[in-house]
Amino acid sequence: MKIGCHVSIADSIDRAVDRASEIGCNTFQIFTRSPRMWKARELSEEEVTAFKEKIGKTEISPVVSHMPYLPNLSSSNPKPYKRSIDTLRLELERCNMLGIPYLVTHLGSHLGKGKVKGQKQIVNAINTAVSGLDKHPMILLENTSGKTNETGSTFIEIGEIIEKVSTDHVGVCFDTCHAYARGYDITNPKGLLDTINEIESNIGMDKIKVVHLNDSKGELGSRMDRHNHIREGNIGEKGFLNFLSSSFKEKPLILETPVDDFRSDKDNVEKAKALYMWANKVV
Ligand code: MN
Ligand code: MN
Ligand code: ZN
Repeated sequence: MKIGCHVSIADSIDRAVDRASEIGCNTFQIFTRSPRMWKARELSEEEVTAFKEKIGKTEISPVVSHMPYLPNLSSSNPKPYKRSIDTLRLELERCNMLGIPYLVTHLGSHLGKGKVKGQKQIVNAINTAVSGLDKHPMILLENTSGKTNETGSTFIEIGEIIEKVSTDHVGVCFDTCHAYARGYDITNPKGLLDTINEIESNIGMDKIKVVHLNDSKGELGSRMDRHNHIREGNIGEKGFLNFLSSSFKEKPLILETPVDDFRSDKDNVEKAKALYMWANKVV
């Protein structure tokens, strides 16, 4: 069982490893930089070394990086588009430095130009960002909840993008909240099987390298991207028991649950572990 959550890199990036260990994660996700700014603080050699050393002393694997929020890889506006590609390129390089194997990215918004144009932009963005790199972390395309103009809310669409990119080092991050909000009913056996079948015929379950395990404030098909604490949303206990008894349980499960007073990250991780064990009758 691989379970962890998104942790902060405040003070120094290696502190993320301490935080993850303290709350019982054996996998975790970070932003390697502030996610709400274009400019990235440079990583010092000391913190890179400290990060790798600390990881080496734990059982934590894999570490996952998440792209910042501002880039829009589906954009057709030249300036922000170029900036978005540069940000992806830089993030690939930062992951290389840190030895991080997976980089999760959103697919962006086509801003009304249509799905086909959006896809063309994202394929070109990935191809441009990886060109000339002899290695790069696997880029994981995250399914979205399907708000207006959003690219990549179905596994058919994500499959079309993966097929067109020039690198084969591209996979998928499956977000349970986004999938549910988009209308994939992962809370019952039939809905989950339909979801897995759609993934199998368009992408392959083996391409799913990370799961974002989040409950959903929005209802099935609401297309609302609002995360909830584990078991407290519309996916709920029954939904997670169903999901965690499927082949998704073999994937690294990373929580992106709300940061508020209702419940701590540590307690969400514990809830997820308990549900996992319950779903799989592990004593
Ligand atoms: Mn995300
Ligand atoms: Mn997510
Ligand atoms: Zn989300």
